[in-house]
Amino acid sequence: MSEPAREPKVRPCPICKSAAVDAYRPFCSKRCADIDLGKWFKDSYTIPGSENGDDSEGLAKPGQNDDGEAH
Ligand SMILES: [Zn+2]
Repeated sequence: MSEPAREPKVRPCPICKSAAVDAYRPFCSKRCADIDLGKWFKDSYTIPGSENGDDSEGLAKPGQNDDGEAH
């Protein structure tokens, strides 16, 4: 363990994790900045709650079988 506990001067790009460039901080390039912007855009565009693309809820619930034997 010889790693210094010093903070890195250059923060990694949140998109691709490469060294960020001053001109596009905190991103490494305009491309990554655009990607991040697009993510935000998409995020606010989608309706909250419908983010989960889980369409496996249409399966029958286990346990409660159809005991439709009314006496
Ligand atoms: Zn990047």
